[in-house]
Formats: sequence, C-alpha cells, structure tokens
Amino acid sequence: MTTKEAAQRAEKLRVLINKYRYHRLVLDAPIIEESVEDSLKKELFDLEQQFPKIVTPDSPTQRVAGKPLDKFEKFTHPGRMLSFNDVFNKDDLNDWIDRVKRLDSRAIDSGFFCELKIDGLAIELIYKNGSLAVGATRGDGFIGENVTQNLKTVEAIPLKLNSREEFLKEMGEKGLALSLSKEPALSLSKEPALSLSKEPALSLSKEPALSLSKGLPEEIIVRGEVFLSKKEFERMNAEQKKAGEATYKNPRNLAAGSIRQLDPKLTASRKLDSYAYSLLTNFGQETHEEEHLILKALGFKTNPNNKYCRTIDEVGGFRDYWEKHREKLSYEIDGTVVIINDNKMSKKLGIIGKAPRAIVAYKFSPRESTTKLNDIIVSVGRTGTLTPVAVLEPVEIGGTTISRATLHNEDEIKRLGVKIGDTVVVGRAGDVIPDIKKVLKELRTGKEKEFHFPKKCPACEGAIVREEGYAAHKCVNENCPARKREYMYHFVSKGAMNIDGVGPKIIDQLVDAGLIRDVTDLYKLKKEDLMNLERFADKSAENTIGAIQSHKTVTLDRFVFSLGIPHVGIETAVDLARQFGTIEKIAGAEAGELNSIKDIGDVTAEEIYKWFKKPYSKKLLEKFKKAGVKVLAQSKSQKSQKLKGLSFIFTGSLDTITREDAEKLVRENGGDALSSISKETSYVVAGHEPGSKFDKAKKLGVKIISEGEFLRMVK
Ligand SMILES: [Zn+2]
Repeated sequence: MTTKEAAQRAEKLRVLINKYRYHRLVLDAPIIEESVEDSLKKELFDLEQQFPKIVTPDSPTQRVAGKPLDKFEKFTHPGRMLSFNDVFNKDDLNDWIDRVKRLDSRAIDSGFFCELKIDGLAIELIYKNGSLAVGATRGDGFIGENVTQNLKTVEAIPLKLNSREEFLKEMGEKGLALSLSKEPALSLSKEPALSLSKEPALSLSKEPALSLSKGLPEEIIVRGEVFLSKKEFERMNAEQKKAGEATYKNPRNLAAGSIRQLDPKLTASRKLDSYAYSLLTNFGQETHEEEHLILKALGFKTNPNNKYCRTIDEVGGFRDYWEKHREKLSYEIDGTVVIINDNKMSKKLGIIGKAPRAIVAYKFSPRESTTKLNDIIVSVGRTGTLTPVAVLEPVEIGGTTISRATLHNEDEIKRLGVKIGDTVVVGRAGDVIPDIKKVLKELRTGKEKEFHFPKKCPACEGAIVREEGYAAHKCVNENCPARKREYMYHFVSKGAMNIDGVGPKIIDQLVDAGLIRDVTDLYKLKKEDLMNLERFADKSAENTIGAIQSHKTVTLDRFVFSLGIPHVGIETAVDLARQFGTIEKIAGAEAGELNSIKDIGDVTAEEIYKWFKKPYSKKLLEKFKKAGVKVLAQSKSQKSQKLKGLSFIFTGSLDTITREDAEKLVRENGGDALSSISKETSYVVAGHEPGSKFDKAKKLGVKIISEGEFLRMVK
C-alpha cells in the first residue's frame, strides 16, 4: 500500500466511524454494533501507526468522546476523565507491558488489578461532608452533564457515606482479609516493605496525617459505572416494542438514555445499577486494589469479580475465563480492564494521548468484525442444495479464526448487495455457522466485482432448479460427484450407519483414488486397496475394513436415516420404521399413507414418496442387498406404552447407557425423545456435567431426573 492509498482508505474510515459514532454517542441511536466500530477504529489506528504522516487532528483515534447534548447543566470535572486504550489479544497486551517496562523496569513488579469492563455509562460522584453533592456524566472528559437528581435514584449509589467509625471498622476487617489472601508470610520474607504497605488498615493507622482522626475528608471524589442488567434491558425493550417505539440497541445506550432523562421519575422507573471503581481522594491508598477496599468501606458497591493478578499470565487467564463465562453474569461485559496496581507507578507512567499508560482495556474478541470478502464459491450439499459461501480474509471472532461464512442463498446475496472485494461485517453467535451481516458499501473502491449465481451445478455442470416456495437452488443430478461425496459423509456418520473410524477424510481419499463411487462400494473394499493409500498401515487398514463389515447389519430406523432422503431426520426415520416394519413396505407406500403418520407432514411425505420412486434409489437399494447389508425388520408395535405421552431430553454424559440408546428406549416405550426443550417437555434426564438444557429446565420448571430414575421408569 502506498502512502496515498493509505490516506484515502484512512479518510473513508474516518468518515464512516464518525457517522457511526454520531448516531451512537450523540443521538443515542446506534446504527451498527459497537464492535464493528471498534474493528474499523483498530484498522485506522494500525494504518496511522504504519503511516504516521496521514494522521489528522480530527481523526477518531485522537478523540475520547463527543460533546454533551445541551440538556443538562454542564459540569467541569475536577480532573479530566480519561478513557482507556484497547488491546485485543495477547500480542497487544505484551506490547503494552514492553512499553511500560521501557519507561520503568519495575512497572509491573507489584502486579495488576483486573476488573470486568461493564457495558455501562461512566460517572463521577462528588461527596461533600459525606453527602452526595454532584453526580455527573463523563461528556468529553473535561465537561460532563450534571445528572445528580437522576443518579440519586440509583440505589447502588450511596446518598450518604459511612461514618468514620463504620469506615474504619470495615477497613480493619478488609485489611486483614487482604493481607491473608496475599500470603503475607511469603511476601514478607521477599519484600517486607511492600507487603506492609499493602495493608491499608495498618498503613492508615501508621500515618496520623491521613488517619482520619477528625473524620473522613471533607470532599470525596469517586468514579464508577451506571448500568442495566440484561433482564432489565430485555424488560424495557419489551415495553418499548409494546408501545410501538424503537428498541434500544444495547444496555449501555439504555443506561445512558435513562440517566439523561430530564424527569428523574423516568430514570427511577428503570432499575439502574452501579459499581464504583476509582477513588480520586487521597486516603493513603498505595494500590488500586486498596482503592476498591476503601470504596467498599465507604459504602459503594464494587464488583466482587474483580481480582488482583500477580503476573501477566494471570491477567490473560482472568480475561479468558470471563470471555467464556460472561453469559453467567446478569449484566453485559465486553472485556476486562487491566490496571497496574501500584498507584505511584501509575502516576509516574503518566498519560499518552487521552489515556493513562498504566491502564488498558483488554477486550474480548468481538462477536462481529469487519474483513474483506475475497471470493464467493458455491458448495453442493447432500440433497443437491447449492450454498454460496464467502471466502474471507481470515479474521478472529469470539476466539476463533473465521475464513468462510455462509451467504445462505441467492436472495441473501441480492439482499446484502455484496460484491467480491467488498469490506463486510461478519458475525458469529455461539456455535452457529458465521454469516455476513452487512456490506460496508461506503468503503468501495470501484474495483469490486459483481457475483453471478451459477446457472449450472459447479460440481457436475448439470442443470439446477429452484423449486417454488424455496430460496435454495438445487442440483438435480443424482450422480453429481459433490452430492455423492456429501451423501457418503452422511452415510458413515454417527447418527446414520455409525461406521467409526471412517470419516470425511477417509471418504475423500477413497473417492479421489477411485476406489468408491457410491456408498455400497465401501463393502467391496479389501485391505490391499487401502494399503496403497497414504496414512494407512497394515493395522489401520484392517481396522477400517473391520469397521465397515461389522456394520453390515443395521436397524431399520438407522438404515432409513442413512439413505439421506430430504427432510427425513432420525425422528421421522423412527416413525417410518415403526409404522411399516420393513424397507420394502416403506418403499411401496403411497404418499397418502405416509402423510397419515402423525408427525409426518405433506412436504416430507411427498419427498419420501418421490425418493423411493426414483430409478436411482431403486438401484441403490438393490446394491445394498447385493453388498450383503442386512436391514433388521422392526415389529410394528412398540415394546410397551409405558412412556406414552411423555417427552424426554437428555443432557450431560450418562453412566450405563449411551444417549442414542437411551433415546431409543424412550421411543420403544412409546415416548418422544426431543432435541430442544420447552415448557411442554415432561422430563430432563441429567447426567454428568449437564449442559445449558439443565439450566433452561430449571428456568422453565421442567422436572429434572437422574439416569437411575429414568431407567426405573422403563424397567
Ligand atoms: Zn451437481
């Protein structure tokens, strides 16, 4: 990239970031996820680092926050309210450590204090003679808004501080707890001066000037955060929706909107919460950790999850732990704040730009990020469905590197208006396949290429159709190599024929070597065939052949599922097996007959009927027979009706039975084995380390039973 190109890119980024910032910060109505803004800011920051000449005074990297709206009285902060620089990964964090150590080699000797970075609103509170005098928002860091009346409605903010006596009593207990938790015996022998100074109760009583003999300081300045719980956020948004009004994008904006209500009654109706995290007044505190203890002793709510970390590894561990467990919290967090614990050191390190050198926000990987879309390819699924897939410049989201994202179908490509070469917003929630959320058309250069959905199957060049009412295009060629390959993956998978040891990798090898053309060829394989393949040795070849041959006998339901009929999952396969008993009878059934089975709808019945009528399918079934695959007939009636009308969900690992077999037991006894929980679910059977279904069951009030209790029910 030349300097000129960098300057052009930077200017486009600035315009876009500023637009987003204006909507989010000044108008309180964001038009995009904040992580997207962060992602663009990071790109701009890196670009400006690389080309320092292109930095302009109006760059978003040179600013802390916007000017306050003219709604409230302005309030000049006694000291500037700084913001923190962000770090996004371990490398960034280590760079920060290197920088501060270059300024003072002992910078991190007394460790770090780590806090959760809550998605809330920063505030400053000034107490005069123990009573709340002023509460203000940050504003631009120098001047905020006086929102005292509104902050007074927040119960977590004390209107009156603890008395000197109460304070000292609290500090005495906390001081002791602190020194105990830090293993004083150990630290004493190593650094006696430091460990003594870390006991605030002790140091307070030793310094008469600060000993508060005449009471607490006249003026006490505290900073903290106001925020909303996730629950309150959802409740408020539900109300907004009901009233036909716009919903809030995130809890921070709702908290900000609530604090900026001109009528304090409205603020009070929203259950805001608050944590204090910084004490500006001198109480003799020497570490940031002590500040928190003092704040708590004064009567402020402090976050109990904050933690002292001795080493940078512990800092990383703290952040990684909370990235994984953030769902457990009742409020949203988007990272952690890492603070050099030694206050004198913090002061010495000073300020860089608009942020203290001694503090960084160690953010979580965003759930959405921007990246470049390099190409669009079309993959062909087992049933012939064509799925356009975005090939991306690799980007980290939620701790995973993403290089592909689904574009779902042609309609979605049109809706997004995406072109090859675009900068896109890619998102990923939980274990769901990542997809493209938005195209940042403002960043186009004019070199982007239009994508044309293929008119033929990319794998076999066969015709593709788009059935009425469906968004997807399908390859209708039964012999399409891509479809066949996907079908083979399905055939050997756990839920289908369950041929362990034979997965997609081995299937690929076998197909590429021309050893199998369809799944029935698997049964013809000989040990010698495999020996010529890479990664196969005598023993492994024998095992693979053994696995294939030992799964030649199969229950009817498994076999039906393994056929890969569109819309036929394991539940439907079980229904079919129960109803018809043999594969011949299923194959001969009329659509009406199929449709008459409970739980099988029109579309599925039609698909099943059509599938068995196809010459391809008839030939395939014939081949299975020839290969010696034996499908066990299933007696029409179930073993019992003990569980009739009851539904079960299994979570966690079971001791004496596999989950598949347990689910089979449920079905054999006339019950339903479900995969997702609802209020109507009869029982959740919880094994070891149950998953989210367990928590959900508790929430929904669904009865939870043990494996033993379940087995007694079917005995
Ligand atoms: Zn095809």
